[in-house]
Amino acid sequence: MTDNLKQYQHYINGAWHDPATGEWFESDDPYRASPWALIARGNAEDADRAVTAARQAFIRGEWPALSASARGAALRRIGDLLDARAEELAKTESRDNGKRMVEVIPQLCYLSRGFHYYGGLADKIEGAVIPLDVPKIFNYTCHEPLGVVAAITPWNSPLMLAAWKMAPALAAGNTVVIKPSEHASASTLEFAALLEEAELPPGVINVVTGYGPEIGEPLVTHPDVAKITFTGSVAGGKRVSKLAADGVKRVTLELGGKSPQLVFADASLNDAINGVISGIFLSNGQTCVAGSRLLLHEPIHNEFLEKLIGKVERLRMGDPADSDTDIGPIANRPQFERILDHIEDAKKHGATCIQGGQAATRSECGDGWFVEPTVFTKVTPDMRIAREEVFGPVLAVMSFRDEEEAIAIANDTVYGLAAGVWTQDLRRAHVLSSRLQAGTVYVNTYRSVSVMSPVGGYKQSGYGRENGMDMIRDYMQVKSVWLNTDRVPDPFAART
Ligand code: NAD
Repeated sequence: MTDNLKQYQHYINGAWHDPATGEWFESDDPYRASPWALIARGNAEDADRAVTAARQAFIRGEWPALSASARGAALRRIGDLLDARAEELAKTESRDNGKRMVEVIPQLCYLSRGFHYYGGLADKIEGAVIPLDVPKIFNYTCHEPLGVVAAITPWNSPLMLAAWKMAPALAAGNTVVIKPSEHASASTLEFAALLEEAELPPGVINVVTGYGPEIGEPLVTHPDVAKITFTGSVAGGKRVSKLAADGVKRVTLELGGKSPQLVFADASLNDAINGVISGIFLSNGQTCVAGSRLLLHEPIHNEFLEKLIGKVERLRMGDPADSDTDIGPIANRPQFERILDHIEDAKKHGATCIQGGQAATRSECGDGWFVEPTVFTKVTPDMRIAREEVFGPVLAVMSFRDEEEAIAIANDTVYGLAAGVWTQDLRRAHVLSSRLQAGTVYVNTYRSVSVMSPVGGYKQSGYGRENGMDMIRDYMQVKSVWLNTDRVPDPFAART
């Protein structure tokens, strides 16, 4: 059976390599609930090979010899290739993680923007001349790359998240080793195949695959890795930051969320309903910013829910490749089981399921791992369904009397990734934007993203940011140069 599966090797130093152990694992197609590809099962030896290639590319050869402008041009070439190939890459990614083509295509089409944006920024990172309070010294600063960056990504949007890391890291002059999730490695490997056409020197971008403990950890602890940028679960992020601390390495963590959407009685209810549905049911709730807690102002609680359920009931499930499908499969079996476990737990602890609440058995779902879009009411802030990230199409609804109570419930979480506010009141919009503890606050919109605006978490949702101009400096270090323009006095002259 494995004979028909597409086989993916590691991409190291501009060439394709079998795993050191000769072992492979299967990647599943979640719509068909069956394997479709074989992925190289990497270990410490493969990690070392990739990091050594990246280190060599950083210290010698064409890459460090390029001017910042030429580096920028190389990034723009990658962007152009992505423009031309986004749809092909989308097919691979959709097959691997079940995300609907109508979502993946625009997401991957947008990736080129990141390479064009950071390509443009590459030659605009300027240091300063500092008018020092010490005489006869010319002091200036410059920003230098760090070295090898290890980029570890999850399965929900593998190529987009890898691009968010790669583009600024490369623009800054680093080299990278990417390790995608064991559940969705293929699109990142297909992207690597494009690099040959981008004429990027070998070793500048490497992709290795496998399980977190087997190849992720050796990457994080490798002495030649200068920085780790990790997107994934809080548990994974904690482990990575502990390991990185031993080597005093820089870390960026983009972790999970339990983001609240607050709907006030003065909101445009139709807009809010669309925003709430897109926040939790697009991508099946498998997005870090999923608006998984819905906080409803008491006066509109019943009306809002009635209209919301009316729309959710009509969502069509099915093949993620079909443009008529609203809800595709869950990306992998472990995640499917985790979501069902959360649903059972919520029922057991007294939440009321008013929609969905089970695996989908509709004929159009075939053998795939589908979960019905699910809505729970009578949720209390202490329940697991209100506190833990489900990362699935499950909405937990609570109500509030006034602004103070809404803010208290919204902030009562270890997470702080995003929050949504629906109101027509300008004062309220500003007050809540300031008081909600989240890295992104959306007002009368939700889930928008741009390469120009920073993304990241408060509290256990992580630290460091992605996107935006400033974050290129997260991939650089500052050097201060002191240049004396005077004679050097004898330091012990006073004694003689
Ligand atoms: P995960 O933590 O299980 O895995 C993420 C990546 O880390 C995978 O490549 C995995 O192999 C690797 N990994 C796991 N353990 C490791 C270890 N000990 N050392 C090194 N690498 C290790 O997360 P997941 O299930 O793939 O992704 C879902 C999570 O990602 C959710 O919590 C979601 O909120 C989060 N996420 C966050 C963002 C964001 O921008 N904040 C974006 C997307 C997803």
